[in-house]
Amino acid sequence: LTYLFISHNLSVVEHISDRVVIMYLGRVVESAPTEELFASPNHPYTQALLAEAPKLVATRRDYTPIKGEIPSPLNPPPGCHFHPRCPRAFARCKAEAPALKEIAPGRLSACHLNDAA
Ligand code: SF4
Repeated sequence: LTYLFISHNLSVVEHISDRVVIMYLGRVVESAPTEELFASPNHPYTQALLAEAPKLVATRRDYTPIKGEIPSPLNPPPGCHFHPRCPRAFARCKAEAPALKEIAPGRLSACHLNDAA
């Protein structure tokens, strides 16, 4: 039996899933076993999502939401769709869409930063 569970509630996703796929503007940007993705997210969008996910901690936290507006999926930015909001974007990101590539066994990510490693 397999469930495909779609949600923005990352706590529930972490709790019930074996594998997580992160999408941005209709493209898969990262896919990994749940434990690995939450322990060490690779894609800058995944990193930003997890950094801002609510947590059950008693200490005060300052939230720093992802900058900028979500572009229209009908007219997405060229290159990497996330580049106008990505804190790590560089020139190549504006011109070339990153391919979804295996970065480790069972882990996929679509980011040009992985090519430099
Ligand atoms: S390809 Fe560039 S803009 Fe896209 S997530 Fe990676 S660093 Fe950011």
